[in-house]
Amino acid sequence: MAEVLVLAEHAGGTVKKVTTELLTAARRLGAPSVVWTGPGVEEARDRLAEFGAEKVYVADSADFASYVVAPKAELLASLVASASPAAVLIAGSAEGKEVAGRLAVKTGSGVLTDAVDVVAGEDGTVLVSHANFGGAVNAHARVKSGLAIITVRPNAVAPEAAAGAAVLEPVSFEASDAAKVARVVSREAAAKSARPDLQEAQIVVSGGRGTGSAEGFTVIEQLADAMGAAVGASRAVVDAGWYPHQFQVGQTGKTVSPQLYAAVGISGAIQHRAGMQTSKTIIAINKDAEAPIFEIADFGVVGDLFTVVPQLIEEIGKKKQL
Ligand SMILES: Cc1cc2nc3c(=O)[nH]c(=O)nc-3n(C[C@H](O)[C@H](O)[C@H](O)COP(=O)(O)OP(=O)(O)OC[C@H]3O[C@@H](n4cnc5c(N)ncnc54)[C@H](O)[C@@H]3O)c2cc1C
Repeated sequence: MAEVLVLAEHAGGTVKKVTTELLTAARRLGAPSVVWTGPGVEEARDRLAEFGAEKVYVADSADFASYVVAPKAELLASLVASASPAAVLIAGSAEGKEVAGRLAVKTGSGVLTDAVDVVAGEDGTVLVSHANFGGAVNAHARVKSGLAIITVRPNAVAPEAAAGAAVLEPVSFEASDAAKVARVVSREAAAKSARPDLQEAQIVVSGGRGTGSAEGFTVIEQLADAMGAAVGASRAVVDAGWYPHQFQVGQTGKTVSPQLYAAVGISGAIQHRAGMQTSKTIIAINKDAEAPIFEIADFGVVGDLFTVVPQLIEEIGKKKQL
């Protein structure tokens, strides 16, 4: 069975959920081989095996932490040359998309981004699904030249465990001078919130301009905390400085695909929908019954969010006490 390279996203030794999703998708195409960059593989190995990694290429080089993105693309290109995989799967994060683009150029291959599923085609090629227009239209695509390099949208594939051998295979790697042109000069840990990561969360509660101010936006945080959810925001909110930019959902923000997405005081502009339309269930709370968000909502409440949300939080509280 052909190998399928999976670039692991991890924080130290902690395997990010999206990596288990990539492994699940990779098993549909062949035998998953994880590409591990930097230290921490010993702590991670069991987790990788649990989700079907047959092999783990370990490149424990400091270059991945010292330089921006390019060394990862270079490592992948060398493994593509030596392992001749059927495909390369990469997380659809900002960094993952950049790695994929660079790898495509290096290998003369096609790249497909934002996949929500992959299957092996009968002719041996990889068929990639994309969800468009709120999931109403599913487009299928395949790479026509070179290797299939695919970025997969976080939360699109449900991770399923399946035992793999996870045999560690050390790879010696040193980035070329060309890959060292953008150096990391300092790192600052982002303030860690107790809430789940926006792109990995099962529930996302997002607030829009309807919240009226930074103070008004706190009602979104309260609802998110009542639901164990991540907080998201529309661009109108982050542009106004009511909430940090990293929480923006949409075309120029993060793409999310949770089980449940609550859009509160958000009109549902096409650019916002681009980042959340594949959520499994969408709830909208808006005082305007004509707001476009209701076109894609599974459940909607027409009303003032400052009246509706506190009642919702109260009801959730009562349910928790039962
Ligand atoms: C190139 C480009 C990229 C963009 N990228 C993004 C992106 O990534 N993400 C994004 O979100 N936007 C993006 N935008 C902006 C987008 O077009 C919209 O302007 C933006 O999404 C609007 O945000 P909003 O829904 O919060 O505000 P509005 O459109 O102003 O909607 C506010 C909503 O709140 C409702 N409301 C008001 N008060 C209340 C209340 N008390 N109770 C209940 N409901 C209330 C109103 O009825 C209204 O529907 C982009 C635009 C461009 C041009």
